[in-house]
Amino acid sequence: MLFDFQLSTTEEGLTDITGEVEAAVKESGINEGICVVFCPHTTAAITINENADPDIKDKFITGMDLAFPDMPEIEHSGDNFDAHLKSSSVGASNTLIIKGGRLLLGRWQGIYFCEFDGPRTRQFYVKIIRG
Ligand code: ZN
Repeated sequence: MLFDFQLSTTEEGLTDITGEVEAAVKESGINEGICVVFCPHTTAAITINENADPDIKDKFITGMDLAFPDMPEIEHSGDNFDAHLKSSSVGASNTLIIKGGRLLLGRWQGIYFCEFDGPRTRQFYVKIIRG
């Protein structure tokens, strides 16, 4: 089953999409399987990270800005090359395990949509496979 979600983002930031992905798993009715979360954008990404400390979301962006600063010498026409680097570094998708009808996530893990070049209307897909 394939689920399609939209979200509106701010300039840069992480949006917790764990609830949406869990809802898709529940709606699929699949007890054991694989769940792929995919982002079809070149300046955004999907990651799994801590959902307990709210500071993590902001510091994640600050850390990415330090790791990938503006680089005028290699900028491209879109003026957002740092966002492309962040997107590829974090990755366009994550694969999760479904066990007992639920996502097999660690206690402190959440699934995040990462915006590196917003604000924009964005999309992500959730593909659920029995197995
Ligand atoms: Zn670009």
